[in-house]
Formats: sequence, C-alpha cells, structure tokens
Amino acid sequence: MENPAPIRVLYIEDNLFDREQVRAALEDAEAVFVLKTVTQRGDFEAALQSGGIDCVLTDFDVLGFTGLQVFDVVRAAQPQLPVVILTGNGSEELAVEAMKRGAADYLVKTPQQIARLPLILKQAVEQAAQAARLARQQANVELAAKIFEASSDGLIITDAEKRILAVNPAFCNLIGYRADELVGCKTDVLTAGPKDEAWVNRIWAGVASQGSWQGEIRPQCKDGTRGRAWLSLSAVRTADGIVRHYVAQLIDLAERTLFEEHLRYLLQHDALTDLPNLALLTDHLEQALGNAVRQARVVALLTVNLTRFRTVNEHYGRSVGDQALIEVARRIKALLRASDTVARSGADEFGILLANLEQEDDAILLAQRILDRIAAPMDIDDHRLSLNACIGIALFPKDAQDVDSLFKCADSALDRAREAGAHCFRFFDPQLNEDTLQRLRLETDLRRAVAQEALEIRYQPQIDLITGRICGSEALLRWHHPELGPISPAEFIPLAEEIGLIESIGAWVIRTVCRQNKAWIDAGLPLLPVAVNVSPRQFRQENLAEIVTTALSESGLPGSGLELEITESAMIEHPSQVADVLSRLKTLGVKLALDDFGTGYSSLTYLSSLPFDKIKIDQSFIRDVITNPVNATIVAATIAMGRSLDMTVLAEGVENEAQLMFLRSRQCEAMQGWLFSRDLTADEFAALLKQGAMLKVGAGETAADETLLLLDDEPNILNALRRLLRREGYRILATTSPQEAFELLAQHRVQVIISDQRMPEMSGTEFLSRVKQIYPDTVRIVLSGYTDLQSITEAINRGAIYRFLVKPWDDEELRQQVREAFRVAHGLVKA
Ligand code: C2E
Ligand code: MG
Ligand code: MG
Repeated sequence: MENPAPIRVLYIEDNLFDREQVRAALEDAEAVFVLKTVTQRGDFEAALQSGGIDCVLTDFDVLGFTGLQVFDVVRAAQPQLPVVILTGNGSEELAVEAMKRGAADYLVKTPQQIARLPLILKQAVEQAAQAARLARQQANVELAAKIFEASSDGLIITDAEKRILAVNPAFCNLIGYRADELVGCKTDVLTAGPKDEAWVNRIWAGVASQGSWQGEIRPQCKDGTRGRAWLSLSAVRTADGIVRHYVAQLIDLAERTLFEEHLRYLLQHDALTDLPNLALLTDHLEQALGNAVRQARVVALLTVNLTRFRTVNEHYGRSVGDQALIEVARRIKALLRASDTVARSGADEFGILLANLEQEDDAILLAQRILDRIAAPMDIDDHRLSLNACIGIALFPKDAQDVDSLFKCADSALDRAREAGAHCFRFFDPQLNEDTLQRLRLETDLRRAVAQEALEIRYQPQIDLITGRICGSEALLRWHHPELGPISPAEFIPLAEEIGLIESIGAWVIRTVCRQNKAWIDAGLPLLPVAVNVSPRQFRQENLAEIVTTALSESGLPGSGLELEITESAMIEHPSQVADVLSRLKTLGVKLALDDFGTGYSSLTYLSSLPFDKIKIDQSFIRDVITNPVNATIVAATIAMGRSLDMTVLAEGVENEAQLMFLRSRQCEAMQGWLFSRDLTADEFAALLKQGAMLKVGAGETAADETLLLLDDEPNILNALRRLLRREGYRILATTSPQEAFELLAQHRVQVIISDQRMPEMSGTEFLSRVKQIYPDTVRIVLSGYTDLQSITEAINRGAIYRFLVKPWDDEELRQQVREAFRVAHGLVKA
C-alpha cells in the first residue's frame, strides 16, 4: 500500500510545555505529521502565505490575539484550511463561538484530549479535503449545465432506451419543438416515415459497434419541413462498459447553406450594379445553348460597350461614373424578358443573353431599343450625362456552336460596330448587317413618307358573280419609294406595325377612303362599300371604333359605304374582346369582312359566332383550286358554309377563266382578282364604274349536253379517238396536257373522261384520282397500252376509275363502253 502523505500542521503556541506535549503526541501517532510551530504573529502570517499547510492548530489565547482572531487571519489567507483549537480555557461559550466560526474541532489541554489530537487533526484534514472535492464537483456540474444550455449546437441526452432526457435550446430551435414536447419521447420522433427506418437503424448499428456515429441527417421539423444537420452520436458507458446514456450533437447546416449561398451570390455578381458577372453569364449561356438545341431556337449574345466611358470618370469623378453604370444596368434590365440575362462583363461593358428568340430579327429591335435607352439623358448629382454605346451581336447556331466562340464572335462584331461610330450595332454575320441597314433605312424612309402623306391608296374592284357587275372595292396601300421603286405592303405593313406607325397609317387610310367614297357618291356613282384592311395591331387598338366614327361623320359617308377587313390572325389573342370590338363596329353600320380565310387556325364554330358579313377565301387556295383536290374541297366547303351562315363568300386572287368557272359552278357569290382588274387609281376606278364595266362570265352550258373529255399526250391518238367518237354526237373536248384538262373541267360540265395512263406530267390514274375528288360525278376511263397493273388496280379499288381499256382498242367495243359510261353518268345505269 502506498504511504499516505504526511499531514502538515501549522501550530501556534507560545507555551513551551504545551508545544512539547503536542509534539510528543504527534510523534507517537500512527499517521505521519509534519509540525511547524510558530510563536509569533508575524511568523504565523508568513507561514500561512508560503502555503504547504493542511491544517492549523492554535492555542486560544496567544501572541496577543485570540484564537477567534486567528480564524479571521486564516479565512482571509486560505478559506478552506481547517482550524483546530486547543485551549486551556474550557468554557462552553467559547467552544460554541469557535464552532460557529467554522473551527474543525475544539480541544481542551487535558492529557486525554491531547492524546486524541492526532485523530482529530486527521479527521479535520480529511473533512476539509472532502468538502473541497464536493465543491469542485458541484462547480463542474453547474458549468456543464451552462455549457449545455448555451451551446450553439443542438444537444440531446437520452437514457439507454434512447428515451430523451434533455435537449438544449439550440436543438429546439433547429427542429421547432419545445423541450417539454420532446423529453420522455423516443428519439425516432425526430425522423419520420418508413423510408427513414432502415437508415436510422444503420446509425444505431454504427453506434453499437463503434461507440459513435457521424454524418449528415435531415431531421423532421415540427412544421413538416426537413432540416439539415451534422450529427455526432455517442454512447456513454459506465466503467464496466454498460451503456447508460446516449449523447447527440447536431450542427445546423441550414445556416451554413445560407451562408454558402450568399457567398456564391457574391462570387457570381457584380458588387456595384448587382448584375450577374461574366462567370454567371457564361454559365447561363451554356445552359441556353443546350436548351436551344433541343427546342430549335436561336440564342443571341450581345456585347454592349459604353463609348468613351473613361471620360465620365475623369470629368465628373468615380462616384458619378458608378451611378451612371447602375443607371445603365437598370435601363437595360427593364427592356429584357425574365428568360434573358444581362451581366456586367467588364468595367464599361455589359453582356446580354437572349435565350429564346423565335427569329434573328428580334435581336435587331432590342439592340436598337437598348441604344436609344442608354442615349436618353440621365441626371446624376446635378450633372446631365449623355452616354452612348455600341453593340456587337452574335447568334447561335448561325455564327458559333459553343460559348467561347460565341463570345469571340460578339466581340468581333463589337469591334465592327465601334469602327462604324457611336450609337450603332453590328452583327457578326455581314449579311445580317446588310439586312439591318436596309431595314433601318426603310424605317426612316417610311416615317418620312407617312409624314409627307406620300403613300397612295388604290382600289381593286370586287365583282358580283351572279350579275357580273362591280359590287365594291378593296383599298390597297401603295408606297413608291423614291429610289427602291414600289414596295409591297406585305413588306412595309409589318414594319409599320413593329415601329408603331401602323396606327397613324391606318387612321389615315380610313379617313381618306371615307372621303373618297363620299366624293364618288356626290359625283353620282352608286353607293358601294370600299373595304379597308385593318392590321392585327390596329385591330387591338383601343380607339378603333372612335377613329371610324370620326371618319364617317367628318366625311358624311354612311356606314354601309365602308367595310373593314380583319384577318383571322388578328383575332387569335383575347377572343372575348374580339366579339365586343366587332359588335361595337357593327353598330356604326359598317360591314365586316374576314380576310385571308383559311390561313389561320380559328375554328368554324368560333368564327360563326362573330358578326361577319363576308368571308374572303385567301388566294393561296384559289391559285390551284382546279388541280388541287384538297384546296378544291376547302373552297367548296367554305362556300357552302358561308351560304348557310348567311355570309357572302368572295374568292381572292382570281386570275383566269378556269378558276372563275370552278367558283361559279360551286355558287361562289363574289370575286376579286386580275381576271377582271388590277388595283386602280381612284379616277380609273370611277371611270370603270361609270362605263358600267362587267365581267364576261363564260358561255352558258346546256344541261343536256353530253360532253366527253379526251386526254392523251400523243396528238395522233387524240385525233383517232376524236374521229371515232364524234359520230356518236358527243361534244368532245380534247387536250394533250393534264393541266389543260383541269382547266377544261373547270369551264365545262363534263360527264365522261377518257385518259391515257402514261403521260410525262402525271399518270392517268393520278389525274383521274384528283378529278374524282373535285368532280365526283364524272365517269372516268383509263385507256392505256402500258399495263402497270398495280397502280391501275389501286385506282379502280379507290373508285377513281370506272373502266380500264387497253390499246390498241376495238372501235366497236370502245364506242359501246363510252355509251355505257354516259348512261351511268345520267344515272340510268349503276356503275
Ligand atoms: P390582302 O388584303 O389579302 O389583299 C389582297 C392582295 O392580293 C393585294 O396585295 C392585291 O394586290 C393582291 N391581288 C389582288 N388580285 C390578285 C390576283 O389576281 N393575283 C394575285 N397574285 N394577287 C392579287 P397587296 O396590295 O400586295 O397587299 C398585300 C397585303 O397587304 C394585303 O393582303 C393586306 O393584308 C395588306 N395591305 C394592303 N393595304 C393595306 C392597308 O391599307 N392597311 C393594312 N393594314 N394592310 C394593307
Ligand atoms: Mg384584304
Ligand atoms: Mg386577303
């Protein structure tokens, strides 16, 4: 056994006898004592100061101060030091007083008591040590509790069954529960759902085998969200290895995420303008290129450079320069869509990503607007600044296929723009620059032409197909450019729409037409409506009805003298407003025509609910109506529909007799086109009207006619057939070309058709298949030496062919077949 440390005793005694008695008692004792004896107060105090003492033994009345005063000196120097009093004065009051002050014990100098002294001293020292230990432990516990409460990390203490014993405020903050809601619960309240279970089991398995586990977890918060925390979970074991507690520490990562996000934001943005910086722009560009490939879209990269911006800094100082940059950033941003990005890519440079362009031209309009906005004066600190910029534009995929090359292209385009001077933009592609210049020039010239009223209105007659007389006209705008010559409205009307000129042009046309028509009436001409085209943008204009009202009242023209042509495309947006606008116009007495019918996508049901008086079938359907079965069907159906809805159907772009005959055969009521007249000046139109000009509608047909159409690319065969069948009394139409055959079909009522199979333009079966769709009542025969059985069989099966005859033919048999065919055509025999 280890030797116990000696007990060091400081003894104050002036009585030599007593000193000797004590020394003897301690020397005889079992425990080892080191006795330091002092006889004077000064020595006592010095000994106390130098330390190394476990206990004080004092006489009660010594060295001029009492044993009680000795306490005060000891307490001041070493509060924990036990003091034992040994006195010759055995008064009870003194004993009580000494114990009150904290004396460890009180002995009277009798031999019995002195014999007990070693034991008393030993106990006093042990008690003092015990008290000190307890005090230390208590302090530790208090400190631990303070740390637990104050820790910024979440802490949980559980028992061995994982039941929560304590949680600290940081943990409560992390998951939103109060401590009293958690204490007593199992820790699995912090996770939720069966998916977590296996994972939670893995964590505990880790703790069981390794004693602890660390990793990121997503604790379930009270509000249903998931937190993010770093968990350190440990088992607390007793000395013999039994788990008594678990302690979990959770570091909140959500705050760190916020911090990381903030940091990332700072790294990707310009501190002055708060715009994305070059790095982020590059990032966005990369994404945009990927998307553009998938969606077959165009991406534009614009580099905007402020011209001589350095002089602003030099002239007005940096602070003004900074504010100017912030203002430029704001102005550019205001012009962009949410999907676009503007970044500060250099000191006086901005990069703009247009991620989703439908067409390259869209970049032009924006570039021009950006230049104009930057050039608008800005007031900063009592200074009025005028900035200018240049822009370079590169396009994906046209100019470059990757981000780096696109930047290079935009920069080189910027160089070109700089060379051209301030306030301009250039494309990387020189052809686009050509187009842009042309467009800009056209724009300026158009503004000038409008201002100078240099546009001209011409009138194209419209014909009633029953009487053949003029029943109205369409006003068509003409622009004769001083250098470029005539420019089509199809080109300058969209331009006028884009640059916001269409409203004033449109109003001018309406006013002029009203005045003109009134002048014609005043000159004794009949009142006929003049149609004015209303562009989509004009149609959406708030005050269209007002403009019309004013034009009518100022000119004195009755409402029925004006017709407004509106295209299907104008009505696609805001369908509910369309009906309102149309009925407002209708109350003014004007007529309404639906222009370019068939080119939009609106449903017939929708259109039939609108108050139109007229439908104009677009000329793209009329152009090949006699040869294209699909268009023929659409035209025929539109005419039928118009009649049933009580609307006049007018065919646009009628250029030849065949088209006219086809339209008449389908009971189309009106037409407009070069067959009768091109557009005319006001005077020419008036003259035509005065003459009573009429459309000669082709020679009338008699219903009883038996008309046979012969088609063969070899004239000899055609002649032979003609000779053979003429004697039968048929009216015979013959041609070597399918195209001409279509025209003949449109102009004459034909019952039976005999066609060759092998012709250079198209095969006989192909021709007859189309004829079947346009003229289903005809009886169709193929006469061929070329036996392509496959296609002929198909044509027969589709019902396109009634008979298939072979060359060379038997005259009598052919005559028989044709007679039979006419009987079928007249419905006398079934096919
Ligand atoms: P639109 O309203 O469909 O006008 C009919 C177009 O067909 C006119 O072309 C006319 O000259 C042309 N045309 C007439 N008959 C024939 C023909 O037999 N064959 C062929 N191939 N073409 C024929 P234009 O004058 O070039 O006008 C084109 C378009 O410009 C018009 O189409 C109309 O949408 C628009 N437009 C014309 N004038 C105005 C106007 O004053 N205001 C507005 N907003 N648009 C106008
Ligand atoms: Mg029109
Ligand atoms: Mg049209």
